[in-house]
Amino acid sequence: MTDKTPSTSNDLTFADFGLHPGILSAVTDAGYSKPTPIQAEAIPVVLAGRDVMGAAQTGTGKTAAFSLPILNRLMAHATTSASPARHPVRALVLTPTRELADQVAESIALYSKSVPLRSTVVFGGVDIGPQKEALRRGVEIVIATPGRLLDHVDQRTINLSQVSILVLDEADRMLDMGFLPDLDRIVSLLPKSRQGLLFSATFSKEIRKLARNFLNDPVEIEVAARNATASTVTQVVYPMSSDDKRRAVLHLVKTKKLTQTLVFSNTKIGAGQLARFLEREGIKAESIHGNKSQLERMKVLEAFKNGSVDVLVATDVAARGLDVAGMPCVINADLPYNAEDYVHRIGRTGRAGASGEAIALMSPDEEHLLQDIEKLIGTAVPRLKLDLPSVASARSNSNRPERGERRSYQPHTPPVDEFFLKPYEPSTTAASKPAVSTAANTARKRSVGVLLGGGRY
Ligand code: AMP
Repeated sequence: MTDKTPSTSNDLTFADFGLHPGILSAVTDAGYSKPTPIQAEAIPVVLAGRDVMGAAQTGTGKTAAFSLPILNRLMAHATTSASPARHPVRALVLTPTRELADQVAESIALYSKSVPLRSTVVFGGVDIGPQKEALRRGVEIVIATPGRLLDHVDQRTINLSQVSILVLDEADRMLDMGFLPDLDRIVSLLPKSRQGLLFSATFSKEIRKLARNFLNDPVEIEVAARNATASTVTQVVYPMSSDDKRRAVLHLVKTKKLTQTLVFSNTKIGAGQLARFLEREGIKAESIHGNKSQLERMKVLEAFKNGSVDVLVATDVAARGLDVAGMPCVINADLPYNAEDYVHRIGRTGRAGASGEAIALMSPDEEHLLQDIEKLIGTAVPRLKLDLPSVASARSNSNRPERGERRSYQPHTPPVDEFFLKPYEPSTTAASKPAVSTAANTARKRSVGVLLGGGRY
């Protein structure tokens, strides 16, 4: 059985929750003045020890919604003792991707900076040694991706027998990624009596089944209508031929003077090609996708966060867990095959109440995808015409085609930027490309005020 919490008044402040002063001061330092709706609803319920099934997409403040009350509950065990035995793992947060794990860990470290509770993150793709060392010293909170956590279990470098709180973050994505067997195994290692919190962008049949197995009489919290897109995000779709899409992205980035923009591509190859095209046109662009190593992905993310990369072209999997607030714009260069991914994608803008713009470029063969999206979100996305500059003027700055690209025109004016006079260099593979484009870019680093929680990778 589940029950619905009444919607909470928005006059609440963080002080009203009765949080420990050390946690409250960290929240104030983070610059949060009032709880977001999911926080207003979830924090009291989690503090009371109830299980929660929360429908909240990334960007709603859900990380603090579960982290703050968990930290508060663990304060009963907080100790400054150096003994590892006094710091058993008491809370486990599972996330589908390394980036999200890292991001959640960063938030928890921030919220617990003034209290004697330890946390660490474990995920694959990086050296396991330092993770073992952190676990050996003792930590109350572990944030993990399922596979690497099980590696630690198998190597007996983690003991889960005292876990009293389990969080499944982005549970829908964990199911999509085939983590159910891993989750079953992990849960079988935990004490039966525990608090369970499950967060998911949507409550599908599968998620409800997972909740029935992993949670005990959860309070169901749904802050926005199911599958709704944030009302602060303006959505628009520009119909065009697929050949025009790259120029359209370039045009939008230039005319809207976009920085901190996430562009989605359905394929790894498409993401790499689009980023290289934008780079050749003088845009500070990078791509992030599953073919890149964890280290490369983290470097690119950092470059994006610190402003040395303006446009990040990503695939869905790679973009999960990107914690970038106040992004002005998300561009769907391709419409996603799965309508729910559209909700995830555009959740990257308009986060935590900030306004944002979600632009989709749609070729005629993608009409049915838009129909699926509109059915899911329950609203029609306005279709507008995007006037692109003529091919010749758009390309006047560059005369190098992408390998394999058809060349159907000649530029009218010679290239003016010295960069374009350099001899042709075959495009490097995405994996071997430096994550931060150039030293000049690095020199141009600027602090990006709109990013919350960034810069600590
Ligand atoms: P999340 O949905 O947990 O990924 O959070 C999205 C972003 O909102 C993060 O950058 C948080 O730092 C930020 N955030 C979380 N809670 C608040 C709040 N109450 N006020 C302002 N920003 C917040």
